[in-house]
Order: sequence, then structure tokens, then C-alpha cells
Amino acid sequence: MRIAEIYRSVQGEGLLTGVPSVFVRASGCNLRCWFCDTPYTSWRPEGRDMSTDEIVAQVEEWDTRHVVVTGGEPMLFAELIPLCHRLRAIGRHVTIETAGTLYLPVACDLMSISPKFASSAPPANAEPHWHRRHVRERHRPDVIRRLVTEFDYQVKFVVDTPTDLEEMNRYLAELTEIARDRVLLMPQGVDQQQLDERALWLRPYCETQGLIFCPRKQIEWFGPVRGT
Ligand code: SF4
Repeated sequence: MRIAEIYRSVQGEGLLTGVPSVFVRASGCNLRCWFCDTPYTSWRPEGRDMSTDEIVAQVEEWDTRHVVVTGGEPMLFAELIPLCHRLRAIGRHVTIETAGTLYLPVACDLMSISPKFASSAPPANAEPHWHRRHVRERHRPDVIRRLVTEFDYQVKFVVDTPTDLEEMNRYLAELTEIARDRVLLMPQGVDQQQLDERALWLRPYCETQGLIFCPRKQIEWFGPVRGT
């Protein structure tokens, strides 16, 4: 499994915000969102192939119960199956961060699904191959339905403009298995100013719609710094 980085930090997003966690970041993604905040796992994938033994040994260097396997797209790697089994066998709580386009029969405690909107596709003129692939692969209701049925889950939408909210509502209308109190809306942005601008309209929207506004605390705490 190609790994870009393994580090200990604090979960900055979602239902487990504030929980100390070890992050195992897989490198490689089947999508190429234009705003990707980890381009070193998508547009320019870095890292090296690590065995399950190596990854588990590195995780065990920290006495930290929560492990977040993220990416990139960790569901691209079949080795995720033995990795999750091993992590749970040593008593770790496992969160998987995925865009919800691929399914694997993993063992995990929280499936954190972040479906991508049409607006996240890279521009067709500059990136025609990845634009076509993004359009083809990003929306997999069959996969998301299976994930939310089989796992404890949260669904995190990254919202860039109010137009995205129309698509988010179409998602929820199509996928009636998703409970509204498991839906979190996060502003798109790579710095605090961008996040604050979008929070101005997104937070009130969440309050009126019974959805959870989800700040990206890691940017507030650490800034747009890799490995934090
Ligand atoms: S799905 Fe996630 S990791 Fe992949 S390109 Fe989009 S934002 Fe980046």
C-alpha cells in the first residue's frame, strides 16, 4: 500500500473533532478534484510502498487509540482489508476517509464518506482525461448506499458555492438511507479566510436545515501545513 505519510495529530473534522489520532495517509486517488488539499496523494502522488507490518509498527509507536486511514483514496488498496483487521486487533478505533466511489469489505468503526460534487471536477480544457474520469466515477450511489448500511458513518460534503447545496439536496433525496443527523457540511477552502467567507452563509444554512456545520479545525489550529 503506497503511503505518503504517517503522523500523529488531532482530528480536525467531523464527529470526532478534537480526538487525538494517528493519520495513515494513502497515496493515490481515482479522482482529481481541482481543490484537492492533498495534491501529493492525487495530482502528484508521493510516498512509498509499505507492508501492513510496517504500517502497524509505525502506528504502534504512539499510544493513541484512534487511527484515521485517509488519502488520497484508501479504498483503492486491497491491503486496506488486512490493515484494518490488524489495527482493530491491537485495540485501535479505525476511521476510514473515502470519497465513496469504491467498496471494500473492511473492518472499521467509522466510515467517513465525502462524496464529491460535479463542481469539484478539474476543468475540461486543461485536464480532459481527468475531467472525463471524474464525471464518470465520482457519483456512485450504489457504493454509498452499501457503506452507510454496513458501517457506522458520517457523510461530509465539501461545499464551495451555494449551487453545491442543490446537488447535496439531490443526494439526500436519492439516498434516503442517509440520516440527516449524520450529514456534515464543510466549507471549501485551504486557508482561514476562504473558510470564514463560506462559513458566513453555510453555517446559517445548516442551522435552518437540521444539518451539522463542520469547521475545518486543523486549518484554524495549524494552518495549511502538511502532516498536522
Ligand atoms: S477525492 Fe479527495 S484526495 Fe482525491 S482528488 Fe478529491 S479531494 Fe483529493
